[in-house]
Amino acid sequence: MSELRQNLVTKEWYVIATGRARRPDDFVRRKPRPHLPRRSSRCPFCAGNESLTPPEVGRVPADGRWQVRVVPNKFSAFSAEGRAERHVDGLYRWANGVGVHEVIVETPRHDLIPAQMSLEQLRLIMRMCQERFASALEDPRVSLVILFKNYGEAAGTSLLHPHSQLMATPLVPTHISYRVEEARRYYDEVGRCVFCDTLSIEAGEKERVVWENDGFLVFSPYACGAPYEVWIMPKRHTSCFSMTTQAELDSLAEALFVVHRKMHALLGDPDFNYVLRVTPKDERYGHAFHWYIKYMPRLAKQAGFELGTGMYVNTTLPEDNAKYLREVKVPVS
Ligand SMILES: [Zn+2]
Ligand SMILES: [Zn+2]
Repeated sequence: MSELRQNLVTKEWYVIATGRARRPDDFVRRKPRPHLPRRSSRCPFCAGNESLTPPEVGRVPADGRWQVRVVPNKFSAFSAEGRAERHVDGLYRWANGVGVHEVIVETPRHDLIPAQMSLEQLRLIMRMCQERFASALEDPRVSLVILFKNYGEAAGTSLLHPHSQLMATPLVPTHISYRVEEARRYYDEVGRCVFCDTLSIEAGEKERVVWENDGFLVFSPYACGAPYEVWIMPKRHTSCFSMTTQAELDSLAEALFVVHRKMHALLGDPDFNYVLRVTPKDERYGHAFHWYIKYMPRLAKQAGFELGTGMYVNTTLPEDNAKYLREVKVPVS
């Protein structure tokens, strides 16, 4: 019999249907990735092609050859110019599409896959992400900033050069606001942060823990909709990514380094998305919300049932996934 599980944090229900026992091998990527050159003359993100992008808004190091570079998205979903205005048109509402849309070019190299990135490179990327995140928060028109990475076709990317993206929106979508409301409700009822409580349950039970260091716990959520989904959560209560210290950013880079390599070893360089789950700007000093990264290999397709119910079917057991991932040893260096 399958099992329905509710996520403590989001209140979402998931169907855990492991009728047909599936091992990690069943998910290993069979389609070879295209062979990529170290540098591509047509790629706007490759070193030497800087003139193909809009003027950069961030880079490290400041001089000489860059290691990480940030540019506005040429095909931005939001306009950098204009005012944040909402309009009422009879019963309909609309707002100006202003905001921020940036591309974080994670390395000058065209062919580097996530599992090949050095710890040092990931540190630079995380620091740059936080810098741009804080900068976007300063824009008075912005209500929410999100950061994400799409890797591979199934994750929705067409650009092969390693990159992640930052988007800032002038309003808070219901997908986020209901999560914040649930967290606030929990805090009101229990007097504690629901994420801190989740951390202590997971650290105590250990069954779903994949890996940890001083700053972060990596675990398979008790209730989640995707095979091998993991959450990377700061151990210290931090409501907003912008409040993460430099030492914690280094810990985060280490966690990502390990997760990329574990996923690669177990599932054969899977397509994945990760998303930074954060609170809206106005809530960032609250006690109820706690930021984290949701890291989701794209191993399953969503179909009619998911579309019709918003309830995802996971054909794997989070406890098994955590065990398989835990068993992959990754030396951190
Ligand atoms: Zn490139
Ligand atoms: Zn917390």
